[in-house]
Amino acid sequence: MTDSAPLLPPLPGETSMDPAGPLSTTAHPPIGVASVAGPDKPLIFDATLDTKISAVVGGRTAQALAKAFDMETVGDLLSHYPRRYARRGELTALDELPRGESVTIVAEVLSVSERSMKSKRGSIVEVKISDGNGILTLTFFNQKWRAEALRRGMRGIFAGKVTDYRGALQLAHPDYELFADDADAPPRDSDAQRRWVEAPIPIYPATATMPSWKIAKTVALVLDGLGPLPDPLPGALRAERTLLTQRDAFEKIHRPTADGDWRAARDTLKFTEAFVLQCALVLQHNAARARETRPRVPTRGGFLDHFDSTLPFELTGDQQQVGSEIARDLAESGPMNRLVQGEVGSGKTVVALRAMLAVADSGGQSALLAPTEVLAAQHLRSIVRMLGPDRAAELMPTLLTGQLPTAERKKALLRTVSGQALIVIGTHALLSDTVHFFDLGLVVVDEQHRFGVEQREALRLKGAQPPHVLVLTATPIPRTIAMTVFGDLDVSTIAELPAGRQGIESFVVPLAEKPAWSMRVWTRLAEELAQGRQAFVVCSAISPKVREPGEEAPSAEGDDVKTPPTTVEGLLAELRVKPELASARIEPLHGRMSSDEKDVTMRAFAAGDIDILVATTVIEVGVDVPNASAMVVMDADRFGVSQLHQLRGRVGRGEIPGLCLLVTTASADSLARERVDAVASTLDGFELAQADLTLRREGDVLGGEQSGAKSSLRLLRVATDGELITQARAHAQELIGDDPDLSSIPPLAAAVRRRLDESERSWLRKG
Ligand code: ADP
Ligand code: MG
Repeated sequence: MTDSAPLLPPLPGETSMDPAGPLSTTAHPPIGVASVAGPDKPLIFDATLDTKISAVVGGRTAQALAKAFDMETVGDLLSHYPRRYARRGELTALDELPRGESVTIVAEVLSVSERSMKSKRGSIVEVKISDGNGILTLTFFNQKWRAEALRRGMRGIFAGKVTDYRGALQLAHPDYELFADDADAPPRDSDAQRRWVEAPIPIYPATATMPSWKIAKTVALVLDGLGPLPDPLPGALRAERTLLTQRDAFEKIHRPTADGDWRAARDTLKFTEAFVLQCALVLQHNAARARETRPRVPTRGGFLDHFDSTLPFELTGDQQQVGSEIARDLAESGPMNRLVQGEVGSGKTVVALRAMLAVADSGGQSALLAPTEVLAAQHLRSIVRMLGPDRAAELMPTLLTGQLPTAERKKALLRTVSGQALIVIGTHALLSDTVHFFDLGLVVVDEQHRFGVEQREALRLKGAQPPHVLVLTATPIPRTIAMTVFGDLDVSTIAELPAGRQGIESFVVPLAEKPAWSMRVWTRLAEELAQGRQAFVVCSAISPKVREPGEEAPSAEGDDVKTPPTTVEGLLAELRVKPELASARIEPLHGRMSSDEKDVTMRAFAAGDIDILVATTVIEVGVDVPNASAMVVMDADRFGVSQLHQLRGRVGRGEIPGLCLLVTTASADSLARERVDAVASTLDGFELAQADLTLRREGDVLGGEQSGAKSSLRLLRVATDGELITQARAHAQELIGDDPDLSSIPPLAAAVRRRLDESERSWLRKG
């Protein structure tokens, strides 16, 4: 902080303030500081980023911060950055008050009076203040205590909106902050006064118990108590990008004296964040690569060769390309860590199966981890089908899920530990301690977004040597996210769809504007069925009281006042009595059914014995029934963009064109509706992922709960900071190329360690 900086709040030790609360919800800056518990000086003066907050500001505040934001260390607190900055505004002289505008005035209390109101019950406190040029009245209704708090002769700063009451100007219920004595008051010299008034006031993500001003006060104490802060950025890099030192940046983002301060600080901290993150990811990537494992190379005339020669279709160019990337990885002595992203239906399963066969050729086992029981069972069926009976008997693909009956589970465990089963397919039950492999060579994780890093890690530990890891995702991931979230993985992309796909037509059914279209949905569905096709109807809830396990409550984003959602049970009953669907066989599918029931239902649907499945999002990923041509999504606005895209991918998979009706009651100009419209407007998953990024509220990008709690990203926004992330990665790679363990820059190594700890904590929380 420059020494010319005027005293900013918190002004130590003084003032009475509005006990009504933090004021941070008002349009006005929350000026002033109430009676804050805690010391006015830091308890120590040589704090580092790893020092516990309690050592600097005392236990009570530290506990409150831990409770509100999960903060422990000085570093945690200092990287709790202001969400925005307010300003006290121009100082206004009392003889030139603009009516109807918000003003801030430094003035002295002339008189205080209290009286009862004439017409209504209640009291009114009137306070006259003066700046020496004019007089203004402050009014407070039913707040008698103001007459005690404000007394003649007190000086302070008052802020509020100028209103006209019977010809006299006044401020009703202004925010104010009193100066304890003249030493704390803004200087009478007008230059210094102007600086004081123009200083940006940081507004922090806050909670009721930890309001913004209290955070500001604590941060100030911590900044005062900070010892020397070694810089994590290499000096040359800081100079090249003209960035501040970290200490300066912390000072200026928390205690700016002008807008330029926090802007420069933000640039520095944002780049530092990107750089430290990329260093962490590059190191992780290198560490994973450096482990020793067994190369897996297919044998001539082995499982893979045979599979390729009997494949009923040609692999697409992208499938071949990705296939050779995987083959190259598998042949190396460091384990593969590869993410394959590809549109729904782009043929990722075939690619993964080919990798499993290469591993089987070398005698190794593969584990395929699916997000749900339904999907695991389906994978088993389609893998058995693709292999054909002879190969299936040799490879013995085995299902291992939590809901298997004990006898079958025992059998599956035995096949797994003996190495008989060369392909083991399961849900997270595969992660349990009772599952042992004979020679685990490859782990395939289907639909990454349902699995945390630590789950991948648990499977990794099941091999005698670290197994190769292949992650499949149908959620297209923009490059910068791939680089940020999956930066420890190599990425392959399957963009091409197998030839002969008919595409999907999507329509929004906007019930807010066109309620009559609701009927048309069901007649349209009946037309599809009449052509011998099948349909999905998707609801966001099972019954009025039961949500799909794992589904969150509908977001309270405040776009619309939400009516209760259409439910599987409610709609099932409704559709079964619709005359136009009289001959249709309609069945439910949702997560509260037993896995047997679900399995029976899915089989019946796949066999064409069910016409309409009324389902929850259990059908979201991977369900493959080529004859299903139509999908109706009820309350489409309750789903996310990528979720709708996934759901829609269930139809239009064969030679039959798909139809997707997105039913919504969201009004035309709402954000929720914008999301639905975006999905209807394109089939391009990458385009949608980008649109999704832009439409989502900031901080929501990684799908994590970022409600001020510790989260993986702070200033960095993957949607808009792609360029910065790319540059940071290049710098990180260059640096680590020269100095593989960052030994030349200990503060950077420490920052990376903190970063990894923190990511671990937040990933663990996500489960
Ligand atoms: P994904 O898992 O990427 O959604 P799948 O691997 O389930 O896609 O493939 C979808 C369907 O397309 C499957 O029925 C699969 O047999 C078929 N398929 C895969 N690759 C090809 C290809 N190259 N040509 C034709 N059909 C393919
Ligand atoms: Mg799949």
